[in-house]
Amino acid sequence: MLFLDSYQSSQQNSASLTKVEGNPETFPFSMIAGPCSIESYELFLEVARAVKKQGATALRGGIFKMRTRSDAFQGLGGEAVPIVKQVKAEVGLPFVCEITDPRQIAVLDEVVDVFQVGARNMHNYELLKELGKIHKPVLIKRGLAAYLDEFLAAAEYVTKAGNSRVILCERGIRTFERSTRNTLDLSAVPYLKQKSKLPVIVDPSHGTGVRSLVTPMAWAAAAAGADGVIVEVHPRPKEALSDGEQALTLEDFEILVPRLNRILEAMDRPGLGDHSSTPAPHSRKIPAWTN
Ligand code: PEP
Ligand code: MN
Repeated sequence: MLFLDSYQSSQQNSASLTKVEGNPETFPFSMIAGPCSIESYELFLEVARAVKKQGATALRGGIFKMRTRSDAFQGLGGEAVPIVKQVKAEVGLPFVCEITDPRQIAVLDEVVDVFQVGARNMHNYELLKELGKIHKPVLIKRGLAAYLDEFLAAAEYVTKAGNSRVILCERGIRTFERSTRNTLDLSAVPYLKQKSKLPVIVDPSHGTGVRSLVTPMAWAAAAAGADGVIVEVHPRPKEALSDGEQALTLEDFEILVPRLNRILEAMDRPGLGDHSSTPAPHSRKIPAWTN
């Protein structure tokens, strides 16, 4: 059975997800955009407003970061929660955020609509089992060196624990190639869609690590049949506290969207809505993910 998860903003901006039968090809494409990390209220609001204007369907932004080096910026932690609450209230989009430890569920639950499991935690089965007990969608990134069948097995930890709202995200894998941060495996998209009923999205930001490659690979993801993309956007990438080299500028994002919509049209699926005139958040229904 196929489902459509749709997000309906409430006054609290919490997610309300309803399942409706339908054909996945008719589901709206999800565009999740935002900075790698929440750095400040001003930064997050600036990005959120800009991406919403172009048709983004959800915001992203790290609060607890998984950094390779212990002396790198680790995220604002709990301090980011009131920032996200305020920005969601102003912009009216759902929020996707990585959770790195089950003990963060309580603090993140107030503002997070979709819990993201990062690539480094795809094999953290206790975390996956805990997320199986909650009623919000869980976006799982493919592990750095995970086989696709291991990726699907990770998703099963969540679904078997009781939460069927899982979104798979191809975000590149480690190969011998060093020109890019990772090798984005776009064949994963049709493979995963053929093997499961779960929505499959693509992260061309971590998948390439190179700003100039993000937009072409976002277009390619749509052409490969992805149900969405998640991209990092920063108005001043040189000042970003994490992943600046792969962040799209606001201008880059403006270029990405129109051609993406034309590709979606060629794929017989609806493009991103025109959000240039923004209705009040509580009156909008934002279709988010298929399941
Ligand atoms: C992220 O999306 O912020 C992130 C750290 O991604 P990944 O887990 O894919 O490296
Ligand atoms: Mn990042």
